[in-house]
Amino acid sequence: MTTLLNEKEIWFITGSQRLYGNEILKQVHQNSTIIVEELNASPHIPISFVWKGVLKTSDEISTVFQQANMSSGCIGVVAWMHTFSPAKMWIKGLREFNKPLCHLHTQFNAEIPWDKIDMNYMNLHQSAHGGREFGYMMSRMHKRRKVIVGHWKVESVQRKLGIWARVALGWNEFQQLKVARIGDNMRDVAVTEGDKVAAEINFGVSVNGYDSSDITAEIANLSDDAVSALLERYEKEYLLSENLKPGGSKRDSLIEAAKIELGLRGFLEKGGFKAFTDTFENLGELTQLPGIAVQRLMADGYGFGAEGDWKTAALLRVLKVMAMGMEAGTSFMEDYTYHFTHEKSYVLGSHMLEICPSIAADQPRCEVHPLDIGGKNDPARLVFKGKEGKGINVSLIDLGSRFRLVVNEVEAVSLDYELPKLPVAHVLLDTKPSLEIAASAWILAGGAHHTVYTQALTVEYIEDLADIFGVELLVIDQDTTLRDFKDKIRANEAYYHLFRNQM
Ligand code: MN
Repeated sequence: MTTLLNEKEIWFITGSQRLYGNEILKQVHQNSTIIVEELNASPHIPISFVWKGVLKTSDEISTVFQQANMSSGCIGVVAWMHTFSPAKMWIKGLREFNKPLCHLHTQFNAEIPWDKIDMNYMNLHQSAHGGREFGYMMSRMHKRRKVIVGHWKVESVQRKLGIWARVALGWNEFQQLKVARIGDNMRDVAVTEGDKVAAEINFGVSVNGYDSSDITAEIANLSDDAVSALLERYEKEYLLSENLKPGGSKRDSLIEAAKIELGLRGFLEKGGFKAFTDTFENLGELTQLPGIAVQRLMADGYGFGAEGDWKTAALLRVLKVMAMGMEAGTSFMEDYTYHFTHEKSYVLGSHMLEICPSIAADQPRCEVHPLDIGGKNDPARLVFKGKEGKGINVSLIDLGSRFRLVVNEVEAVSLDYELPKLPVAHVLLDTKPSLEIAASAWILAGGAHHTVYTQALTVEYIEDLADIFGVELLVIDQDTTLRDFKDKIRANEAYYHLFRNQM
């Protein structure tokens, strides 16, 4: 999956004008190439920047933006106003441009050379007012963009560029993402429903329905060798319980699970789907609810949502793409069970089966247990404890008139406990600022029980993603107070109603 980081690029453009004459423009050219070279060498920016020149006229600007729109490799543009670039020249290009845009507000030299500075120096170091002229036009045109301020050599600036670049990759993934819904929604569940047409218009993602028979058709064509090879991988990668080993009493369940994985994988690969849903109420001829199959597909980068939850499936895929190559994991998650105590309260995150092993603290165990609902055979699943450390929970909901992202800062903790009878993967979360405030705010925001849980990404990534799409974002973090949060919800109701046509 990391190849996407190498296949895509971000274009870097420098704004100026003809007024300065060739000498200054040569300098602008030189400085720009130095900056782009250095940014490309930065360990904080995982996607290549390609410099597209000093733009001095409306036609030059418009041409580059048109080319950026057409380029399949280009996932966004970073613009820097080295000098003053009269912003009426930018109107045509900005009107046409339809990819993520980042305004890097930097200056070639960092510090003022107090004893040497003269008007020549000032004329070459005009970002301070050039960037403001550009910002005015973007604000006036309601162009969504990220603004990053600071010297380009500084680590925090490079980190912000890196975050935005990864989010642009997520935007790009949304544009072409195909989600397969195997079966419909879990009956009567509300929050997993939504307007799939609106989702495609807003995010680009296409969501369509398929049947469990599409998977069983794949399973019917599997070779014994393929099944054996996968069983060997299970044995190598996980701690198999005794009854799953060759000759064990539950070995047949594991063989069935392996067939389901191969069938699902084949179906997804042939259809070009990078995310999918299933539901235990529409399993048809599938003999078990896919457990280990879904877990391993998630580990390979697929998005997944249980019970027909296509929004979470799509979001999981996009967040996995944004986090590609990073060490920490990203998984489908559900707020499952509370641990209320007098001192501090926690939530146990888990699901019936489908938690991604990318968040596992240790090597997962592979086990078979009854599911207790759905009336199918006992499914195989990977059981593990989530790795300790900071993370976020993210939910994408459909409010009927718009989409809303809700994000909560959390920390996976390891209290002194054993869970000898819990047959599923889990993570114990300390939700910020406290469970009482976090869960109150989450519920007031209408956040779903399903989330994408990631230890790779931070709130800043989700903020950038929301800004690129113009989608509402509510953040619950260490600074959240319920009174302010309620006001924010009310203000947003008015804002998104008033500006609906400009979103
Ligand atoms: Mn669920």
